[in-house]
Amino acid sequence: MNYTATREALNNKRSGSFACIVCDAEVHRWSGRHDFFDWTAQRMASPVFGRKR
Ligand SMILES: [Zn+2]
Repeated sequence: MNYTATREALNNKRSGSFACIVCDAEVHRWSGRHDFFDWTAQRMASPVFGRKR
């Protein structure tokens, strides 16, 4: 699953991580003067099938 997040600059250092809510794989880990929040799963684009001629 792909995710988008909002990145915010902070005055203080912070670290954190976010794991996939489906498979629990780590999506992103960060540390420093920024934080990530508002994680949203991206809906997969529907597959495109060829047409029989
Ligand atoms: Zn996943």
